[in-house]
Amino acid sequence: MGSNLESSDSRSFGVGGSAGHNGVRGVTRAITLIVVHCTATRVDADFTQKDLLRCHKARGMRMVGYHFYIRKDGFIWTTRPLEMVGAHCLGYNAESIGVAYEGGLDGQGLPADTRTPQQKHSLRALIRTLKTMFPIQRVCGHRELSPDKNGNGVVEPAEWLKQCPCFDVATDEWCR
Ligand SMILES: [Zn+2]
Repeated sequence: MGSNLESSDSRSFGVGGSAGHNGVRGVTRAITLIVVHCTATRVDADFTQKDLLRCHKARGMRMVGYHFYIRKDGFIWTTRPLEMVGAHCLGYNAESIGVAYEGGLDGQGLPADTRTPQQKHSLRALIRTLKTMFPIQRVCGHRELSPDKNGNGVVEPAEWLKQCPCFDVATDEWCR
């Protein structure tokens, strides 16, 4: 991995190499968590990897905060090297990989599971591949990691900072 990512928008998925700390060359941080996100864009609009990069740069980042981006056609883009800590989930970036899919809002702009069959398939393939590469202990949605404001130990729906990723990762067959 390496070379010149900051001057390009993104790369297609491809990770190789010999054994390192996690069994993945060049990745020395301990990765145990996959956090699933959506872009919170309407299903009837296209939100390209370049749009995503522009959006995150406007928020002061040098590159996309997620590590992978899954378009509606199922194509998986690598948007940040795995060895780099992501910028996608406050308090959980150091140990996690961020995966986002394009969509999350229906035609009326309301939160919905808008994943296409191709996105579901790619999400499963990506998660299963990452599980073979890293000692992943948990796959969850961004909203599940929102702060437990009332301190009762449970992050309840009313406490979700937002709906991201607009489906329940814990019970989703494509995220196992
Ligand atoms: Zn999110």
